[in-house]
Amino acid sequence: MTSYLFAPAPTPSLPIVGDARRFPVRRILCVGQNYAAHAREMGNDPARQEPFFFSKPADAVVVDGANPAYPSATENLHFEVELVAAIGEGGAVAGWAVGVDLTRRDLQAKAKEKGRPWDAAKGFDQSAPCGALTLGALPDPAAAIALTVNGETKQSSTLAEMIWNPVEIVEKAGTLWALQPGDLIFTGTPEGVGPLMRGDAVEARIEGLETLRFTVK
Ligand code: MN
Repeated sequence: MTSYLFAPAPTPSLPIVGDARRFPVRRILCVGQNYAAHAREMGNDPARQEPFFFSKPADAVVVDGANPAYPSATENLHFEVELVAAIGEGGAVAGWAVGVDLTRRDLQAKAKEKGRPWDAAKGFDQSAPCGALTLGALPDPAAAIALTVNGETKQSSTLAEMIWNPVEIVEKAGTLWALQPGDLIFTGTPEGVGPLMRGDAVEARIEGLETLRFTVK
């Protein structure tokens, strides 16, 4: 039996709708600028260029209705509602969830300006609130996707507006990494991203999937 210097960290996991089992999270891959209107609002050309990826650590997930803390070292925390693909056995998509890619937008802007990595902007602690997983095929590939803050709609689009559809995103990710059971892939956010303050109540919805709700602590 392996003896560790200290107890290994527990495996982060997502609840599954209608199933007592949990989905163990291995790592989190995220695609950037996968909706044309969001690429434009970030100052980029939304031409159908190859998707690019960044990552968050597995333990960045915030689950089971827990509330993420407002992170240190930023004055511009942003929300990004996203469809999340969950990879199961054999590298196939096992199910889908609603996630929010929390972003330190000020640190991301500095990183972009200097050509530096995005880790501190994207992969910080509690940066990936995620709802319960719905197993099986995506209920509706053209479903509405929306996010409200304190009841006010901030993002409202449909999955049909994606530049690369979820199947293509998973395929592209698979050319860069050997996808393994437990991998989550955040598939990009539509336009309307904006700031969050402490105490803000966020509701992130995709038709057919379980709604994600949290309040920023
Ligand atoms: Mn994102």
